[in-house]
Amino acid sequence: MSASPPFARVVIAGIGLIGASLALAIKAGGLARLVVGLDADARVREVAPNLGIVDSIETDPVAAVRGADLVVLAVPVRAMGSLVQAMAPGLAPGTIVTDTGSVKCAVIEAVSPHLPAGVHLVPGHPVAGTEHSGPEAGFAELFRDRWCILAPSEGTDAAAVETVARLWRAVGSDVEVMDPVHHDRVLAITSHLPHAIAYTIVATAADLENQLQILAASADPQKVTTAEVIKYSAGGFRDFTRIAASDPVMWRDVFLTNREAVLEMLGRFTEDLIRLQRAIRWAEADTLEALFRRGREIRRGVVAARQAGRFVYGENGERKDDTTGE
Ligand code: NAP
Repeated sequence: MSASPPFARVVIAGIGLIGASLALAIKAGGLARLVVGLDADARVREVAPNLGIVDSIETDPVAAVRGADLVVLAVPVRAMGSLVQAMAPGLAPGTIVTDTGSVKCAVIEAVSPHLPAGVHLVPGHPVAGTEHSGPEAGFAELFRDRWCILAPSEGTDAAAVETVARLWRAVGSDVEVMDPVHHDRVLAITSHLPHAIAYTIVATAADLENQLQILAASADPQKVTTAEVIKYSAGGFRDFTRIAASDPVMWRDVFLTNREAVLEMLGRFTEDLIRLQRAIRWAEADTLEALFRRGREIRRGVVAARQAGRFVYGENGERKDDTTGE
């Protein structure tokens, strides 16, 4: 006889990219008897059970979490506090509440006050993602060979942390336990800053394009130029546009809830950018070459650690996208 699944009722709140992927991975691994979805979006509530992502879907947070042994919050970071407040009457002692938010200190601060006694909070962050959103974007292999960081506060129940760690290992991730403050600083440089740069460079290029179009049209009203930003985007710019396609609400919340760490990293980055600007202006060939050599070495390290992008294949075998670390 096969062993019974480790969880009886898992509730996933937010059936977007991350929630849907985790639900699919839990189902594929037979890790729960029942996977229940909870989502604010009526379209998602219709689509998710039809696609077999969840066994059932709820609109009422209290009804959803009643009888759950694990509740996973996979909504934008700033929605987590009020969502747990709404769930609280249905949460029984012994239930584990975990999350997938990209920022940890703000989640702990927002969620903790609403947890009934005996409910364990195990903050988590799967460092895996694509630029796509919504339930259709989910796939069970998303977390395979990726890190999942657990960031419990002091005094968090060790058995609850181990239970959540086992879940992430079962869906293919490597688990690291990290202090929440440290998590937010590390992710500010490895994930949040790159997204800030991508959003900015895409906007800078689009503004330039608009300006050039206006100038061209004023010189010759008949002339319509093809958008060069799109036409020549096969270069490095394309990678920035992919990152800049990430969910705007999710990223709004990340930058609003990890402000201090992001501002620190932006400051450091600005200093380094000015150093680069100076090296270019003064034609400091050695400085430039040394910087670029260092970049290449770092990339080799990322590849060696198996954290470089990989391609995802669609139902018809078409290459869909390159997954990101976030
Ligand atoms: P997503 O695709 O945008 O999906 C989020 C879903 O949650 C949407 O269907 C949304 O509905 C729903 N929702 C929002 N507020 C809700 C509430 N109060 N109650 C119930 N449902 C609610 O988001 P995601 O990309 O999966 O991200 C989910 C979480 O994982 C975020 O905290 C994010 O920081 C984290 N994360 C994301 C990535 C990534 O690459 N995307 C990677 C790692 C971690 P509406 O559309 O109607 O708002």
